[in-house]
Amino acid sequence: MSEGMLKDKFARTIRDLRISVTDRCNFRCFYCIPDEDIVWKRKQELLTYEEIILVAKIGAGLGVHKLRLTGGEPLVRRDIEYLIEELAKIPGVSDLALTTNSFELKDRAIALRSAGLTRLTISCDSLNADTFKTITRRDGLQEVLDGIEAAVKAGFPAPKVNCVVIRGLNDGEVADFADFSRATGVRMRFIEYMPLDNGHQWDRSLLVGGREILQKIKERHEITPISRDTPSETALRYVFADGAPGEIGIIAPVTMPFCGACSRLRLTADGNLRTCLFSMVDHNIKDRIRRGDDEELIRQFMIETVLKKEEGHRINESDFVQPPRTMSFIGG
Ligand code: SAM
Ligand code: SF4
Repeated sequence: MSEGMLKDKFARTIRDLRISVTDRCNFRCFYCIPDEDIVWKRKQELLTYEEIILVAKIGAGLGVHKLRLTGGEPLVRRDIEYLIEELAKIPGVSDLALTTNSFELKDRAIALRSAGLTRLTISCDSLNADTFKTITRRDGLQEVLDGIEAAVKAGFPAPKVNCVVIRGLNDGEVADFADFSRATGVRMRFIEYMPLDNGHQWDRSLLVGGREILQKIKERHEITPISRDTPSETALRYVFADGAPGEIGIIAPVTMPFCGACSRLRLTADGNLRTCLFSMVDHNIKDRIRRGDDEELIRQFMIETVLKKEEGHRINESDFVQPPRTMSFIGG
């Protein structure tokens, strides 16, 4: 094992820390969060910004160079711009990204860029206002589209747009999203629906596999594969053969798993390290910080936790058990 690196026992190196800053959200995407009876974490249960910065600094010292802020909805946590400014100063962090539902992005894109955010990923599952509302349980399509436009104007390099494809809901819009990419220059990321949903309603019949998504695009546009930027990149990428702007990416964790190249570690809003989206266990780092462990002890804890990283998810195994926490708690 190389000294000073986060390496797991399958020889994968951790380069990417996903930080959930809140479990709260202003949307209620049916696959992610219940619409009622939500018991939010109390403020004192969440990591403070200082605690998040500490974990990020130690991670960066161990070779993490990419940080992604997520949630819940990261823009609902107060003064997120301050956190971004501080994370951007950490030596070794070359990529500082954020995933948002974009509802509040329009008025904040410039401030986020100025704070030091390098990349934005925006979630949008439908371009049809009614379907959008059915999925998110909120009226918000226009705000999201305005947010995407504001992100482009603020100078973020070709924002990515995540679209979870669900049979019978938005699978008829895949080619329309490809048109949207051509028109706006955003990079589409079509994501397979994963069994991480609130209410455990996931069912294989709702899954639209990556190959089928590609086929739907090819029926309207000729596309050409391009290589991944890094070996751990999750998306299979394509550009339009006629040279139009935009890009297509397929993220197929269920039908084409990419666990073998995984470089990710997650930090939940309530202060647990998670080695995989589908882990059944959390590794509590908050209690260690709050009881006064010094940086060296926290560093050792991170190294030991990464050694427990699972070889891969087991979605396609007959004994697969869905984890109890959904994406809004884990951080997508
Ligand atoms: N609120 C922000 C947003 O929606 O972009 C960030 C957090 S959200 C949990 C991150 C991403 O996870 C979103 O693109 C969302 O669509 C995706 N996601 C949530 N649950 C999912 C599931 N069961 N399968 C696939 N993607 C999911
Ligand atoms: Fe909120 Fe994002 Fe989950 Fe939708 S996917 S409920 S926007 S955290």
